[in-house]
Amino acid sequence: MKMKRNKIQGRKTRMLDRLPFFRKIARKERRSARRRGRGRSLFHEVRGHGELDREFHHRLEREQFESLLSAMRATRIPDRLAVLDVFLSTENHLTLAELAELMREQAPELCDRAFLAETMDLFCSCGFAHRREFDGRDASYEHQHLGQHHDHLICTGCGRIEEFISPEIEREQVETAARYGFHPLQHRMEIYGLCGECMARRAPEQSLARAAVGERVRVCGYEENCPDEVRKRLADMGLVPGAAIEVLNSSPGGPVIVAAGDSRLALDGELAANLLVRHCCHW
Ligand SMILES: [Zn+2]
Ligand SMILES: [Zn+2]
Ligand SMILES: [Zn+2]
Repeated sequence: MKMKRNKIQGRKTRMLDRLPFFRKIARKERRSARRRGRGRSLFHEVRGHGELDREFHHRLEREQFESLLSAMRATRIPDRLAVLDVFLSTENHLTLAELAELMREQAPELCDRAFLAETMDLFCSCGFAHRREFDGRDASYEHQHLGQHHDHLICTGCGRIEEFISPEIEREQVETAARYGFHPLQHRMEIYGLCGECMARRAPEQSLARAAVGERVRVCGYEENCPDEVRKRLADMGLVPGAAIEVLNSSPGGPVIVAAGDSRLALDGELAANLLVRHCCHW
């Protein structure tokens, strides 16, 4: 059985080598990976797929899409297949604007937004793409690989999106639902935070004004030139070294709202700039 698979695999590889379609897609993919350098899907790692396997898979998806479109009597089938080729040529989460940009490079006559939006809706409804709506950013699309599920880590600092698979978390979710007599159909797990690179760029101790919304921090002191009167106001609020606080809201012009124990406090710009805090993931 194993031998048979290897034989088929070998034949497939030789066959693919001869197809200009795959060479073109592979070149495009390498270029786009170099350009973006991040946010690539887990497809390779999940199944250990090499580039040729992935392309073979995409070729199948293209054929399936074409027959679905014909069955649905869809319009502009060749144009939609051209969009699919571009969409499949990258493993990133693509917004419509990013897709339009790729189309402009590869098929400029097809970069009309309304047509692209309609085509992406078709991909989603036929099970070839997922539409993602991560907080605070434009909707994006990613490939839907059958039988595979992943979740996302989203950096609110630099925008990086990392994909992950956790069998333990998946199992726990199913078990939790079962305890409620609930039969889950689908779920979305999105963890918002700061990626390792964004954290590494930060000083270990920084002013509260620079902390991110949702961040948990511990007070570690006051800025060197903090006026006594400001220090006293902070201390009166209970914001002394060791105090644990969570940033509920923070906007450039407005006050920083924090939770400290049972109270919610509003700190104006001067207070927030003078309070030194250290990040903690939990306390
Ligand atoms: Zn999940
Ligand atoms: Zn980041
Ligand atoms: Zn993803």
